[in-house]
Amino acid sequence: MTVPETTAPFRFPVAGRYAGMASSPLKSIFDLAAAAGVVSFAGGIPDPELFDLGTVTAAYDWVLSHQGSRALQYGVSEGEPELRVQAARRVSRTLPTDASQIRVTSGSQEGLFVVAEALLEPGDVVLVESPTYLAAVQAFAVHGARMVGVATDDDGVDPAALEEAIRTHHPRMVYLIPSFQNPTGRTMPLERRRAVAEVLLRHEVPLIEDDPYGELSFTGVVMPPIASLPGMAERTLLLNSMSKLMSPGVRIGWIRGEGPVLETLAVAKAAISMQSSVVDQLMVARYLETAELDAHVRTVSAVYRERRDALAEALAPVLPAGAHVTRPEGGMFLWAALGEGYDAQEMLADAVAAGVAYLPGWSFFAEDPDRSTMRLSFVTHSPAVIAEAIGRLGEVIARHGGR
Ligand code: PMP
Repeated sequence: MTVPETTAPFRFPVAGRYAGMASSPLKSIFDLAAAAGVVSFAGGIPDPELFDLGTVTAAYDWVLSHQGSRALQYGVSEGEPELRVQAARRVSRTLPTDASQIRVTSGSQEGLFVVAEALLEPGDVVLVESPTYLAAVQAFAVHGARMVGVATDDDGVDPAALEEAIRTHHPRMVYLIPSFQNPTGRTMPLERRRAVAEVLLRHEVPLIEDDPYGELSFTGVVMPPIASLPGMAERTLLLNSMSKLMSPGVRIGWIRGEGPVLETLAVAKAAISMQSSVVDQLMVARYLETAELDAHVRTVSAVYRERRDALAEALAPVLPAGAHVTRPEGGMFLWAALGEGYDAQEMLADAVAAGVAYLPGWSFFAEDPDRSTMRLSFVTHSPAVIAEAIGRLGEVIARHGGR
């Protein structure tokens, strides 16, 4: 056997649609933020102190001792029946749902990939909020879709701009995060949801509604999904996840849909991963059946609310005049636009040197980024740590003022 001599190391030819996407543009920022001594507001990392470890352990124990041989066996692509029943019960609080309408996924991230796999042709346009969740954009982009950003205001996507974009771009689908949006923390009021639904109904455009945060409400108000508005259920794929309510490590979520598309989703899911982990699905089913999840979510939300307050209060005096900052009523993120003359990406190195990190906002825009924006997660640190770190960020902002 002869191995041809060459000076160049072998390089795998990779798919063109992945070219330039070798890793997330945010990876280097997360690496920076993870440095010792840096208080990071960059990731949406739940405080591990808040995990309901005892109940999760009991649920795994129960599954392995009562359903052990099933838990360790292959399952079905649609998801384990018990979990689909529990998921349907939870979704039914705002949208009547049968277990047959649930497709289990390994977190909503896989849900987005499954949706893209099942629905998108290369060259299709997906309308997204401007700004929107970056990893959704990536899941759509690697399927060859072109993202077009639609203008938003404090109430979410602008229905008139949405209608205009639909007329201009003839999108395959619209992707929205109506509750406690990532990255802005904004929530679409009911009236706006109705206006958006009317536009989508008028133009027969399907909706991908991503709702991992809706239950993490600081006011107790959980908004009905757009999918629950008249006429919308059959044309919406609604994505939910256990990541923010129970654990992001377990990787369980689901898609709620109707009609023949459910079969296509199951085929796509089978092609990608056969099925989500059976042991994890059965554990989550048991957890949903036995845990006081509502009480747990109230506890977590109360802690996040306190931290939202701490972050908002610390930021108010250090933001420049003319800055715009959101005050989310739930979820994990707050969004600040520093305004004219500021570049949050450029400022980051100084911030990290001062021991504080955030996520520059430019990467969340499909086009025309506002480079003065930043996303700050308020879920990871205590109010005292938040106040101290934002004080240091304030000094950095002051140094960058008017550049
Ligand atoms: N959608 C949105 C809007 C998110 O913010 C996230 C998590 N950052 C996800 C989907 C994916 O979450 P998971 O895969 O953990 O369910």
